[in-house]
Amino acid sequence: MTIKLAVLGNPVAHSLSPLIHHHFAQLLGHDISYERILVEGDFATQVRDFYLAKALGCNVTVPCKLQAYDLATELTDRARIAKAVNTLKFMGMEGDKLQVLGDNTDGAGLFLDLQRLKCPLENSKILILGAGGATRGILPDLMRSPAQSICIVNRTVTKGEDIISYLSTQLSSSVNLQVSSYEEFTGTYDIIINATSLSLHKELPKLADEIYQQAKFVYDLYYTQEGGTVFTSKAQALGVKHCYDGLGMLVGQAALSYQLWTGVLPDITKTLAYIRSLGRH
Ligand code: NDP
Repeated sequence: MTIKLAVLGNPVAHSLSPLIHHHFAQLLGHDISYERILVEGDFATQVRDFYLAKALGCNVTVPCKLQAYDLATELTDRARIAKAVNTLKFMGMEGDKLQVLGDNTDGAGLFLDLQRLKCPLENSKILILGAGGATRGILPDLMRSPAQSICIVNRTVTKGEDIISYLSTQLSSSVNLQVSSYEEFTGTYDIIINATSLSLHKELPKLADEIYQQAKFVYDLYYTQEGGTVFTSKAQALGVKHCYDGLGMLVGQAALSYQLWTGVLPDITKTLAYIRSLGRH
């Protein structure tokens, strides 16, 4: 029987998720359908209608991740901590209430990709630029990593402070955490993660060249299908050898959603190579 899946959000027309999930299914010999559903009306009604059409679950993207969190009747630990849900798995009806498990695979997706890229996390000093939803999603996994310290630099410093004070109540971590403004921040960092939305507009954060030059590994959560962003290009031009965009994270979070639905974790490497190859045409 065909496994029915989808991504719900607005916009969704350019989502790569259907391509990624169909490729996973093809590699695993599964029969799936994975569609894009534009959320225009009531999110909960659209999710329920999709369940009633015999779906197994769905991904949820911007701007519906908080609504998905509210809709879930059960949460994984990482979704509870992130207070946002990007994956729903339907568990049937209880009376007239849909029972749904909510998960958040964004942070673990980044972590899978950092492992694939052999990112030198051990004892590292990590700089995260940005303190939006993505930073909230990736921070718990980085706080559990063997890194030495994490510094969040954000235009609105209080947003970084809020994330750290909230997460410190949710999980214990031996990683030293700091927050700074672009104006006041100094230091040297081994790993730089760009979690701002600047690359989308082909803009760069206000970062001195020395900060890039001292880094060993640079990762931009933003991605392009062909690979590379303005941020990774700048780092490369300044001599950083290991620079990556976030397509691997996208495929990683998709693989973990797929695992939640089917019980099987797909191989990210093959699907990432396939999606990149489509970008080169
Ligand atoms: P948000 O809108 O929640 O946060 C945006 C962040 O960028 C904020 O910290 C904001 O600062 C900062 N920012 C925006 N404009 C500027 C500016 N002009 N100068 C300095 N800082 C700025 O977005 P998300 O956290 O959801 O997403 C961030 C990025 O991560 C996006 O590029 C998105 O595409 C990518 N992403 C990639 C994923 C993947 O799977 N690869 C998954 C999720 C996200 P302030 O707080 O001051 O407003």
